Amino acid sequence: MYNPASARAEEFIAHEEVLETLAYADRYKEDAAAARAILDKARLKKGLTHREASVLLACEIPEIAEELFALARQIKIEIYGNRIVMFAPLYLSNYCINGCVYCPYHKQNCTIPRKKLTQAEIADEVRALQDMGHKRLAIETGEDPVNNPIEYILESLQTIYSVKHKNGAIRRANVNIAATTVENYRRLKEAGIGTYILFQETYHKESYEQLHPTGPKHNYAYHTEAHDRAMQGGIDDVGLGVLFGLELYRYEFAALLMHAEHLEAAFGVGPHTISVPRIKPAADINPEDFSNGISDEIFAKLCACIRVAVPYTGMIISTRESEAVRAMCLPLGVSQISGASKTGVGGYADAEGMDSAHRAVHRVGTEQFDVSDNRTLDEVVRWLMELGYIPSFCTACYREGRTGDRFMQLAKTGQIQNCCHPNALMTLEEFLIDYASPETRRIGEALIASEINSIPNEKMRANVVRHLAQIQEGERDFRV
Ligand code: SAM
Repeated sequence: MYNPASARAEEFIAHEEVLETLAYADRYKEDAAAARAILDKARLKKGLTHREASVLLACEIPEIAEELFALARQIKIEIYGNRIVMFAPLYLSNYCINGCVYCPYHKQNCTIPRKKLTQAEIADEVRALQDMGHKRLAIETGEDPVNNPIEYILESLQTIYSVKHKNGAIRRANVNIAATTVENYRRLKEAGIGTYILFQETYHKESYEQLHPTGPKHNYAYHTEAHDRAMQGGIDDVGLGVLFGLELYRYEFAALLMHAEHLEAAFGVGPHTISVPRIKPAADINPEDFSNGISDEIFAKLCACIRVAVPYTGMIISTRESEAVRAMCLPLGVSQISGASKTGVGGYADAEGMDSAHRAVHRVGTEQFDVSDNRTLDEVVRWLMELGYIPSFCTACYREGRTGDRFMQLAKTGQIQNCCHPNALMTLEEFLIDYASPETRRIGEALIASEINSIPNEKMRANVVRHLAQIQEGERDFRV
């Protein structure tokens, strides 16, 4: 029954295989030697099977947990360096015909206003996002073929890419919309999207059907096979995710890795990113109603296990998590975070110019969930640098055609580092000049000055120094 290369959800996420994996993990979780052998394999940075990684997640031996965390930190540094890529979500419409019980956009919810941005309003949002310094967005909508048809998304993408306000530009728009057809994925690809992101919510079919009682999203197979259709439509960077809290986290973790193995087996390339959202309070939604919530400690362990299991898959943490949780998880392998996010439709233009205290209490009423990190982008960027990270606004890879297996090839041979580090420095310099407060700029300039020295290739270093000078003179958008 279980077949990672199958095109059928019930075969590549076979329930029996998940259950056998959990039993396997229980069998070995107290076996320190077995866990160490798995860690030794992970050290090779070639990844782990879902069974092996599930043993690490289940294992509660303190020394093994310490070794796991140390290895996750090491892999993060070796593959992603100290860079953290920045992005923001952009909510276009909260019209939705689904009945997802954890989401305030569900159709039956009469307590929230429904809103769909016009193209002029989208341009306002994009200008507000550009004025913060964002270059990369994740487009979000509810599922509603009448109010949010694919034509609306395509037109919105055109608007988003066309706004050039002051020195700003959105250079990469990832898309997080409901599962759709191969043809629609092809149109999204043609519109120049980056990654197509779709969260599975839960891989447990029975729970999935209960949590999505009505609407097109009820169809487990159609949802679970969406990334395959996206790949068939030519989108070779796809993002996975689970909404933690809905089902048992060990079940979700095993199945998430099985999904990654499926993409690798069927298309020769694994997921570009994995997101790790947890359920948050929202209008009409109380996370306490869901009995599978996980502690911050388990959440951190999940991040570490993902990092060692799929070392070349980027990991994304959103502002659903607090500053403290984000600080705890960043070194364990996170490669992308959102900053200054607004989860309501029209939230950015509305909050423009507000400081973090005002942003925290400001509501447009259409929020998808409560944000735990309300800091401004300037504050998040400064904080990252103070923690020793390089905030990166780089969007070079997909613009240079480095997607899918080409990206993975470069990543696995370590060559991608030669691009990512210089690009991070150059895009950070743009941010510092165009958007940063004086203090953030001071810290950032010192960081760039010291980081330049660690570019190993002399020619590349000279190039970056020249481009930094050009950026200071007003030119923009250099990439290697
Ligand atoms: N509507 C699209 C779909 O059906 O896949 C996805 C876009 S939705 C705006 C983005 C994600 O937010 C969902 O996939 C879900 O995981 C997450 N989400 C929904 N309700 C949430 C809540 N109460 N707390 C945290 N995240 C939530």
